[in-house]
Amino acid sequence: MSSSILFACFLGSLPLVLSSDWGYLPENGPVVWGQHYPTCNEFAQSPLDLDLFTAEPSYGAGELKTIGYRTLHNATVNQNGHTFTVSFKNVPEDEHPMIHGGSLPPGEKFSFVTLHLHWGSDSSRGSEHRLTGYEFPAEIHLVHWNTKYPDFPSAAQESDGLAVAGFFLQVSNQTNVNYAPVIDGLLKLAGHPDHFDVDIGHLSLHSLLTTKGAADHLHYKGSLTTPPCTENVFWNVFLDPINISEEQLIKIRSLRDGHNQPLR
Ligand SMILES: [Zn+2]
Repeated sequence: MSSSILFACFLGSLPLVLSSDWGYLPENGPVVWGQHYPTCNEFAQSPLDLDLFTAEPSYGAGELKTIGYRTLHNATVNQNGHTFTVSFKNVPEDEHPMIHGGSLPPGEKFSFVTLHLHWGSDSSRGSEHRLTGYEFPAEIHLVHWNTKYPDFPSAAQESDGLAVAGFFLQVSNQTNVNYAPVIDGLLKLAGHPDHFDVDIGHLSLHSLLTTKGAADHLHYKGSLTTPPCTENVFWNVFLDPINISEEQLIKIRSLRDGHNQPLR
């Protein structure tokens, strides 16, 4: 597997991250993250250019399984100065959606905490991972923590603490109606400060993913792709892209942070 290091993934609500001292501008972007976060200069850093011709096929590890991905929960959107996130509220900890199996440690379950999106300034760029050099216009990351630890902040400190399911988005002629509540909610964030929550009604994770469900995916052990770049993430990147319309992507690209600067 080739390992050209690209942009960066932000794990939405990770409490270790101070949003003020890193970003994606020349003066605070990935090239200089290592000055404040030494781990960002180490070896097993994500994301990768995933090479379909040399990568380990996922079927050797078995199918990645989900629990509760079709269950409807009350959802909120907000933006944190870097990206937007979708979270569930008032869900008892043991009723959060979970993933297990596949290349994850046998018998261990990983609980969903939040999802976020990466996108670019136009549809020629935006995804964090690449597939054999190809960059998609956006990539969604569903962040989970290993429930053998007491909670998400504790798991985030451990070498086997996190698992992310990543899906590419591709441009389609048709509106993805399942994304409409999310995008409508995001547009209501305008004029509000960072971390302001907007309720978007009931949502299941499955509705935002591909209809093929747990299709083929590539997996590897990597890192958070934003500071502190901790190398503790089981990455699962699915090959079947999610369709979204150009009009919907344009709305996402119009999002601003609490200082009226573009989120990107
Ligand atoms: Zn990410």
